[in-house]
Amino acid sequence: MTDNNHSADILIVGAGPAGAAAAYFAARAGARVLLADRARFPRDKVCGDGVSSVALPVLDRMGLGNWVPAGRFVEPRVILICAPNGQFATTRPAMQDGSSCGYTIPRRVLDEAVFQQAVSAGVRPLEGTRVIGRTGQEDGYHRLAAKQNGRDLALAARLIIAADGAAGGFTRSLGLLRRKPEMVACRAYYEDVAGDPDRLDIYYDRTVMPGYVWVFPESDGRANVGLGTYIQRVKQDSIDLAAALERFIAGNPLIRERLGAARRVTPIQGYPLRARIDSTMPVSDGVLVAGEAAGLVSPLTGEGIGPALESGELAARHALLALEIGDVSALALAPYARELERRWAGEHRTARVIRAFLRHQVVVNRVVRQMQRNPAFALQVGYAIIGARPVNTVLTPRGVARFLFPP
Ligand SMILES: Cc1cc2nc3c(=O)[nH]c(=O)nc-3n(C[C@H](O)[C@H](O)[C@H](O)COP(=O)(O)OP(=O)(O)OC[C@H]3O[C@@H](n4cnc5c(N)ncnc54)[C@H](O)[C@@H]3O)c2cc1C
Repeated sequence: MTDNNHSADILIVGAGPAGAAAAYFAARAGARVLLADRARFPRDKVCGDGVSSVALPVLDRMGLGNWVPAGRFVEPRVILICAPNGQFATTRPAMQDGSSCGYTIPRRVLDEAVFQQAVSAGVRPLEGTRVIGRTGQEDGYHRLAAKQNGRDLALAARLIIAADGAAGGFTRSLGLLRRKPEMVACRAYYEDVAGDPDRLDIYYDRTVMPGYVWVFPESDGRANVGLGTYIQRVKQDSIDLAAALERFIAGNPLIRERLGAARRVTPIQGYPLRARIDSTMPVSDGVLVAGEAAGLVSPLTGEGIGPALESGELAARHALLALEIGDVSALALAPYARELERRWAGEHRTARVIRAFLRHQVVVNRVVRQMQRNPAFALQVGYAIIGARPVNTVLTPRGVARFLFPP
């Protein structure tokens, strides 16, 4: 039998941005929420730390609106894009309403803040608790097996939100993952980084295209430096990601200007990314899947924090509705799946088409040349790169083709 401490209306598995947001919004509406994470907070997550303007309104609704712009985080204002031929262009995207285009926030700091915000909304945290899988159902409660500090733990909930990220072991145990992750990226932190502290750099390296190398500035001369690409490309060309990143830093004169005198202060660590919305079944009886476990990362930029927060909020809303009507069947939860589809499927489709263009060096060289010549085009590219606007609203495949190959 499960004791009251380990039973809830909603059990959320994973306390990253998706899980913590879902937990916060559900608890604030009065639900009894358990939030389990195999890690203990504060914990790090391998990431580029870029928090786009898509994420900011959700953080605001979570009561963190004043915490983010408190001057402690860098708000990159200039974007540099470097083509494989070494040519580069810069642009300065700005939101029309004067709001921020985004920040870089170390994940150790961001995730601790959203986790604590959930706890202060009344969520019961279960840190150091790995949820293994569902074991059955009784009296309207799903029973689950977990391990806490090596000991078996029984959990029970009327509804489950799976927010276990790219690894998705728990979501897989429910039979909801259809594919393996399709992207992978690695990153490390550097100190004493030179150059404009507000400048975010993207370098297209021919060895990993359509992936890229990034330098995301953080406070006190620190930067998050990484490289991301497609697992298929890594396998096909037997790429060692960490070695490819170091080789690129040593070989590209522009990035050397920034990192030549910098020190790498952490190991280069890698992690997969799920960027296919069709890779997961987002609902089943008693279960909603949110965040990266639902494949919501942008296939173009790798942005996943904004979609994680947004989908966490959506999952909480749909969970509350289902609990209210007393029906948590897959059918009753289907509107959540439709909402994910409406919000992200079109954007992902456009991103894939653009990504196919970006496989070719000649195309990226041309994009950068057009950016140099046409500031309006450069701005659109800037918006798409930092995720300030949905990619299908700023860069249509036809529009890109027209700019690249003018009639
Ligand atoms: C190198 C790299 C760079 C990236 N750069 C960016 C960027 O700059 N901007 C951006 O927006 N996105 C970026 N992303 C993507 C972003 O990191 C993720 O999309 C985001 O973290 C997804 O949030 P989430 O809450 O869905 O999952 P996560 O943040 O991964 O959280 C999942 C949580 O679930 C827990 N967990 C997993 N399994 C279990 C289990 N069985 N039981 C209990 N707990 C469990 C984990 O401990 C973890 O805390 C990057 C990714 C990588 C790999």
